Amino acid sequence: MYASVNLVCPGCDAVNRVASARAHEETLCSRCRAELFPDASVSLDDPIRFQKHIISHDAPVLVAFWAPWCGPCRIMAEEFEEAARRLKWDLRLAKVNTDRAGEVAARHQVQAIPTMILFHRGGEIGRFQGSITAAGIARFAQDHLTAALETPFAPEALPIASPAL
Ligand SMILES: [Zn+2]
Repeated sequence: MYASVNLVCPGCDAVNRVASARAHEETLCSRCRAELFPDASVSLDDPIRFQKHIISHDAPVLVAFWAPWCGPCRIMAEEFEEAARRLKWDLRLAKVNTDRAGEVAARHQVQAIPTMILFHRGGEIGRFQGSITAAGIARFAQDHLTAALETPFAPEALPIASPAL
């Protein structure tokens, strides 16, 4: 079976159309050669960039709203980065600094930080308020994605890339 998905480059924001396949492969942006499945979370403080990454990226995007002065956010930061590495083939993890992107936080009714919102094709499919471990993040994503997607949440069911076209 052949299918393709759109992945937004974390480096230059280009939309890359890539083939789905069963094997995990490293895939680079056709424009800037950045990893399309990065080992770290992506910062999306710019409102226009945020919208593009939430809407045009076909894989789910889990966004942590945080601020530098927030103690629980700092405690969670390392866990969030570990989750970004562990879950990179299944979903992308992103961060929004609410001091810089108050507009984005307000639009999504973020009342307290840290708050995580799980998006899929622009729509919110789950939300968690408070600090959480990497294992907790994986469980949260699995629970909400299994409920929201037509197919069960499993690596095979999610976009896996082969070289960009
Ligand atoms: Zn790029």
